[in-house]
Amino acid sequence: MLRLVLLGRPGAGKGTQGAFISEKFGIPRLVMSDLLKEEVRSGSLLGEEIRSHMERGLLVPDDIVYRVLERKLSEVMDTGFVLDGFPRNLEQARWLDNFLRSKGRPLSAVLFFDVDELTVLRRMMGRLICERCGRSYNVFYDPPPDARRCECGGSLYQREDDCYDKILRRLDVFNEETSPLIDYYSERGILIRIDASKDLEGVRREVSSVVSSLLSPS
Ligand SMILES: [Zn+2]
Repeated sequence: MLRLVLLGRPGAGKGTQGAFISEKFGIPRLVMSDLLKEEVRSGSLLGEEIRSHMERGLLVPDDIVYRVLERKLSEVMDTGFVLDGFPRNLEQARWLDNFLRSKGRPLSAVLFFDVDELTVLRRMMGRLICERCGRSYNVFYDPPPDARRCECGGSLYQREDDCYDKILRRLDVFNEETSPLIDYYSERGILIRIDASKDLEGVRREVSSVVSSLLSPS
């Protein structure tokens, strides 16, 4: 039973690898942004509060995030979990530690997907998506058959968030608020660094061997 946190810059591949861990090892995956959207869809009072913040383009306040997480984490306390998108800063990390410690179930490990900023730029700025079938390409790593068309014939577009300025802003937020967590978890002896600059298959192999050894330490 593993309780994991995934940490890394935007574009490090946490989402893909989190889904892989969840599927291969049968560990429930909790993605913070999905949990909030789920709460909104449920129509609960808490969901209404979340929606009013989201609609105004505001961050959902921590006390609301904590209430959502408290319930979700309690549900998976016996099965373990892979948490993605939380914590994003030291204060949230301390809250998570306190909550899990109060349940007698501290984090097993934090997987840090380490990738440099230029690689992030190549991955995110190179991304093109087919408007017809939804397939995603990368100009640098996985180019479409030609510059304008998907193999299905559909037109390609770039997501608004995948432009230089917006990516830099997200990288800045990580560097300023989230990167202190690397030292925080490292000092607690639970940080495991994954070389996330490798290709998808290479990262998957490393992740797989790390999680396997966490499950059955030799
Ligand atoms: Zn297509």
